[in-house]
Amino acid sequence: MNCNIAVIKGDGIGPEVVSEAMKVLDAVGAKYGHTFNYEQLLMGGCSIDVHGVPLTDEVVERAKAADAVLLGSIGGNTSTSPWYKLPPEKRPEAGLLKIRKELGLFANLRPAFLYNELKGACPLKEEIADKGFDMMIMRELTGGLYFGARETKEVDGVMTAVDTLTYNENEIRRIAIKGFDIAMKRRKKVTSVDKANVLDSSRLWRKIVEEVAKDYPEVTYEHMLVDNCAMQLVKDPAQFDVVLTENMFGDILSDEASMITGSIGMLASASLNETKFGMYEPSGGSAPDIAGQNKANPIATILSAAMMLRYTFDMDKEADAIEAAVQQVLVENYRTCDIVSEGTTLVSCSEMGDLIAARV
Ligand code: NAD
Repeated sequence: MNCNIAVIKGDGIGPEVVSEAMKVLDAVGAKYGHTFNYEQLLMGGCSIDVHGVPLTDEVVERAKAADAVLLGSIGGNTSTSPWYKLPPEKRPEAGLLKIRKELGLFANLRPAFLYNELKGACPLKEEIADKGFDMMIMRELTGGLYFGARETKEVDGVMTAVDTLTYNENEIRRIAIKGFDIAMKRRKKVTSVDKANVLDSSRLWRKIVEEVAKDYPEVTYEHMLVDNCAMQLVKDPAQFDVVLTENMFGDILSDEASMITGSIGMLASASLNETKFGMYEPSGGSAPDIAGQNKANPIATILSAAMMLRYTFDMDKEADAIEAAVQQVLVENYRTCDIVSEGTTLVSCSEMGDLIAARV
């Protein structure tokens, strides 16, 4: 297969970790007979330095023309970098918000997986961590409370703020379909999370999810209230496969799920639109404190590339090969500085990329 990938290395550790992901993709290409064509594009602080803006319209068009986008991270040290003296709409993060909007990325996927070898970093009780977990938090990204009308005004002499939570049935249906589609590639279970005992938007959410579920007889599904879900994530995370939820609940629950895995350098993410197109990036930021030192953990970006193979290119066995290679280097006790512990071997960012590429 011939795959056209727009590569946005970005700022900080972005160029280092994305280069390792490309190395691993090339190893996959050589083994399975695929060609990955990369077009490198600028976004974030590096684009500000060259073009004066964090994202140009031309880059948006080039990204749209690709099959998928592989992104590192953008931004610098928010206290010291001159990028943060610019008005908010000119700062690096504005590029990220703009590209997500332009590409219509409404579904955000964040896997939370506990590796046996990294159980020591999991903050949960040993008997819970011992059971392991492997879930996908699926968050609606372009609707709900963060996008509704808002205002702050004085009502009868009292300052009053209003935020509006709106969802229409089409917005719910398209994310529910994505959620069930992704469950079909996993253990075929969906937990739809809402607050249907209180919110109208949640009652509509529940109704539409039930309608969509009828088209997926192989997938078991359940509804769970968000407060209960927050508790269950720390009490018994092994019960979850796909956790499907709206924007604000997903924002909070995905951070909670990340936290229980114990390491930011291991967490991949994907944002998808209605087609097979997606933007794939590590969950962490540009880590300016370790940038340029060949110290960063490239695994989150390498696993994001595996998600790209699975969800954009339908290359399940190739994605499995990357995930197995990551598992293998951990079994062999290789660690970057963020996950190193006694008895393990410290390796650099590029050495970690070499080790994983060699095991694909
Ligand atoms: P951060 O995730 O960059 O760093 C937090 C801590 O985690 C740091 O100590 C860092 O060294 C460490 N870390 C992160 N990724 C790592 C990796 N792969 N390997 C080893 N250690 C890693 O968060 P921050 O410091 O709050 O933000 C730094 C910059 O990144 C800011 O400009 C912020 O706006 C930006 N940011 C960008 C994105 C994005 O591009 N999607 C996301 C979050 C933050």
